Amino acid sequence: MTELKFDGRAFINGERVAARDAQTFNCISPVDGRLLTAVARCGEVDVDAAVAAARAAFEDRRWRGLSPAQRKRVMIKFADQLLAHADELALTETLDMGKPVKYARSVDVNSAANCIRWYGEAVDKVYDEIAPTASTALALITREPVGVVGVIVPWNYPMIMAAWKIAPALAAGNSVVLKPSEKSPLTALRLAELALAAGIPPGVFNVVPGYGPEAGSPLALHMDVDCIAFTGSTRVGKQVHVMAGQSNLKRAWTELGGKSPNIVFADCPNLDRAVEAAVSSIFFNQGESCNAPSRLFVEASIKDAFLEKALALVPQYQPGNPLNKSTVMGAIVDQTQLDSVLRYIESGKREGAQLIAGGEQALRETGGCYVQPTIFDGVKADMTIAREEIFGPVLSVLSFTDASEVVRQANQSVYGLQAAVWTRDLNKAHGVARALRAGTVHVNQYDEDDITVPFGGFRQSGVGRDKSLHAFDKYTETKTTWIRIDSPV
Ligand code: NAD
Repeated sequence: MTELKFDGRAFINGERVAARDAQTFNCISPVDGRLLTAVARCGEVDVDAAVAAARAAFEDRRWRGLSPAQRKRVMIKFADQLLAHADELALTETLDMGKPVKYARSVDVNSAANCIRWYGEAVDKVYDEIAPTASTALALITREPVGVVGVIVPWNYPMIMAAWKIAPALAAGNSVVLKPSEKSPLTALRLAELALAAGIPPGVFNVVPGYGPEAGSPLALHMDVDCIAFTGSTRVGKQVHVMAGQSNLKRAWTELGGKSPNIVFADCPNLDRAVEAAVSSIFFNQGESCNAPSRLFVEASIKDAFLEKALALVPQYQPGNPLNKSTVMGAIVDQTQLDSVLRYIESGKREGAQLIAGGEQALRETGGCYVQPTIFDGVKADMTIAREEIFGPVLSVLSFTDASEVVRQANQSVYGLQAAVWTRDLNKAHGVARALRAGTVHVNQYDEDDITVPFGGFRQSGVGRDKSLHAFDKYTETKTTWIRIDSPV
């Protein structure tokens, strides 16, 4: 049996420390409203201390000075540490942010460990370049770590979002200061301890929990941070780019919101699979996924059949205690987010959409934050629930009759993270996939995912890509070294 003890102190220079002014905030579980622990409420002085530790570690080369093969071995041990503590991490994630423990274990822990292992494995297999210049010179094009990387992440996949950034940044030889979300800070703090246990030297990986304006802004504004990698809302992401420009023009990378369209044509090759994907993808993680296909466009001739099948699946997604291994939908991360989801549901009703499933808060008696899986039919493109990211288990269904019109509507969004098209017509599939303005387009499925492919968005879904070898571009500078060759022969 796993016995959990939480430590909410920051992690700076290899040690657990309280915030300098001893301030804390309460970490409340959305499962039942219980207090989990007090967490260090870091501010500017704590961020300064973490950045100073990261800078010292970078300058004395204690980590970046290791060969890629040596860093690889440590990164693999770091991944192994996650797996060795899988039950503890999964339980902590569930209590902290409300997701079902079975997914916290099978998805979040495994995926974070796999990501760390993958970048470790990759780093001694990527080569630099020699440019095809004249024979009187040699031009080396090399990659160097950028230096101190600030990382700010959201609460929906706390370990995975952190791993997508810290793994390539650390593997490339950088030092990192991570600011987890104030809504789910606990696993990030454990990751830093596990990294140290694996052999990542003190100061290389630091964690400063706290509120966005108090701990996040000082990191984004810091004159000695070379790169800021952010995942979160588009609203705050825009501020991060401003802060980078206002301070030292640090490299700024942002993975932001989404309102992904899922287009089902009448010639969809497998209606049951399309229904299952549409429903499971919007309700997975309580709908708190940036890439959730929250706008469902169904060709008018199959809409009734589609919705009948969809409604039959909804009972499977009724929320339950996330600590119960059979639960597939858990708690919304906190009361603020729950209130926001309920406000969106009210706006859908007010603006004339037809509520065909859910729509209510659930399990109030638990003291936790639960909402029913919700579906609106008859949604129009200009309604709030068709335009704004709800970040909850709410599906908006729109119908269409014309391919070019549905693509136009699908692209009518400030976001461009993901999209899907379902058809058995190869020309239509390729044509629509090309026309969709999104970082990832799925054809006849929605659940494929792999660390080997880039993840990120067009337009206001952000700048840059996580995952795959492309992520190394964010955490390395490109250097050209010219060498004159006076050949004696
Ligand atoms: P958020 O923008 O409110 O917060 C994200 C992080 O930024 C948190 O750590 C927060 O403390 C910090 N922050 C808040 N204000 C700040 C400020 N002024 N300066 C610096 N940091 C600040 O987002 P959230 O509610 O935690 O997460 C939900 C959002 O994240 C959704 O929009 C979702 O789409 C997005 N998201 C995107 C991806 C992706 O890969 N594109 C993945 C997951 C989540």
